[in-house]
Amino acid sequence: MSNDTKNKETAPAPASNFLRAIIDKDLAEGKYTRDGLPSVITRFPPEPNGYLHIGHAKSICLNFGLARDYAGVCHLRFDDTNPEKEDQEYVDTIMDSVKWLGFDWNGSTGDHLYFASDYFDKFYAIAEYLITAGHAYVDTQSAEDMAANRGDFSKPGVNSPFRDRSAAESLDLLRRMKAGEFQGGEHIVRAKIDMASPNMNLRDPAIYRIRHAHHHRTGDAWCIYPMYDYAHPLEDAIENITHSICTLEFQDHRPFYDWIIARAAEGGFFTQPVPQQYEFSRLNLTYVVMSKRKLRQLVEDKVVSGWDDPRMPTINGLRRRGYTPEAIQSFCERIGVTRSDGWIDYSTLEGCLREDLDPKAPRATAVLRPLKLIIDNFPEGETVECSSPVHPHFPERGLRLFPISKEVWIEADDFMEEPSKGYFRLYPGNKVRLRYGYVVECTGCDKDENGVITAVHCNYFADSKSGTEGSANYKVKGNIHWVSVATALEAEVRLYDRLFTDANPDAGGKDFMALLNPNALEVVKAYLEPGMSAAMPDERFQFERHGYFVADRVDSVAGKPVFNRVTTLKDSWGK
Ligand code: ATP
Ligand code: MG
Repeated sequence: MSNDTKNKETAPAPASNFLRAIIDKDLAEGKYTRDGLPSVITRFPPEPNGYLHIGHAKSICLNFGLARDYAGVCHLRFDDTNPEKEDQEYVDTIMDSVKWLGFDWNGSTGDHLYFASDYFDKFYAIAEYLITAGHAYVDTQSAEDMAANRGDFSKPGVNSPFRDRSAAESLDLLRRMKAGEFQGGEHIVRAKIDMASPNMNLRDPAIYRIRHAHHHRTGDAWCIYPMYDYAHPLEDAIENITHSICTLEFQDHRPFYDWIIARAAEGGFFTQPVPQQYEFSRLNLTYVVMSKRKLRQLVEDKVVSGWDDPRMPTINGLRRRGYTPEAIQSFCERIGVTRSDGWIDYSTLEGCLREDLDPKAPRATAVLRPLKLIIDNFPEGETVECSSPVHPHFPERGLRLFPISKEVWIEADDFMEEPSKGYFRLYPGNKVRLRYGYVVECTGCDKDENGVITAVHCNYFADSKSGTEGSANYKVKGNIHWVSVATALEAEVRLYDRLFTDANPDAGGKDFMALLNPNALEVVKAYLEPGMSAAMPDERFQFERHGYFVADRVDSVAGKPVFNRVTTLKDSWGK
């Protein structure tokens, strides 16, 4: 998929939503008909202070998806106006994640990668203009006085004693702030709006502050930095954004968004039509925490192995876990876009993944908790080739081959010395089919001095091989998987599960660190069918009866893959 129109005809029709209705109306009215510019320009504006998570994926699919469907363009813009917390490492990973999700800021209209820090000169020029025009002033109150004078929801604010200082004096102070004459907090630039406004965001919001901090792109060129609420609307206007889409908590910021762009437009910095902000409800997903602060705590406290730990809801984590971009895109499409807050169950995400993987993933055999089965009447040293389809619904994908011999690994829980009621797998006297192989009849088991079962014994029926005529003569209820001891590939398999036991670890002031799932990772030594040694990092399989697995992209080495469980075959959490 790309930013321009080339896939437009082949993409399935997207579900309508309130944003599409707004865009349809704007297009019909020709609202954003401008020379040389598409009529729909959206943006995804991450702050490079952490890794992207599944919530960001919703915003990415929405913004890039609208641009794709309306022959527009979506900008990837780094909102890097907060130097202390930002880093190039995050810039690189975010670009990588957006690309991996299937989106591209390199459309037919060029490269649309932007950095807010490239606009620092313009932000500054606008601040000087606002002061000159009487729309802003330098405030010299202490932080405490400023907070006290701001009032609250029931009490109007009080004007700063510096509010009416002359434009010339404010301008002089701003220039000296920029020149580095003051310490952080000594002065601040504020918009001059209304200290009694019922909207707190209009009570003379701060627009520039002093920060003697090194910026990952502009270095030490600046010691004053614009506030988010000031910079963000201007970034949109500079880039000719048409529809600026953000999450609902910014609804109360919209009046200031409009105010600041309108003032700058009066000053000749922008022409009409200017961008409009629209809000949608953020993604809330059960069983995960999504705030960057909490994700960072999981990493720093070593609860997980890193930002890309397969249990993390980060894009990197989901990718390493084995999620596909297609599954995440279809999830974002399915949950839709609304203005009402709600929770999406984690099983919806897993369901999208199973739907995507089921037709794609080749089948394979893995024994995760091995127990040795000895076929006593199988000729010593002999092997017989068995085969099964790579995919049961797509015979054209061919067969996989694996040998059977006298000793095979089976799952420990496929044998019970004393069967419970309704158990129809291996127990003394019972017959089962070794999937794609022979029917065997259990004769007993070996135990060590502690009574622990060390091996199971059986005899096979030489005329019962799957796919031969004789096999029809054997009717058995149990059908278990196995791998031959002689050729099995030993591999580390990581059985991942949800990171939290509580559906809402993030909500209601709960201590999310107390709600960790102690069984979120179990590492087992498994035996796989021999062909699995060729699995490439990121290659996904369905291990029959167990679920979907991926060769870990970090720890797999050639010939020796490590597998992650992506998800089980069925949802076991719903009940
Ligand atoms: P966090 O709160 O996790 O730190 P953030 O909002 O501070 O995230 P940004 O980098 O500022 O992170 O976000 C970039 C974009 O992603 C914003 O436009 C924001 O609205 C959107 N976004 C962030 N979280 C979600 C979410 N849970 N659902 C939908 N969109 C989201
Ligand atoms: Mg943010």
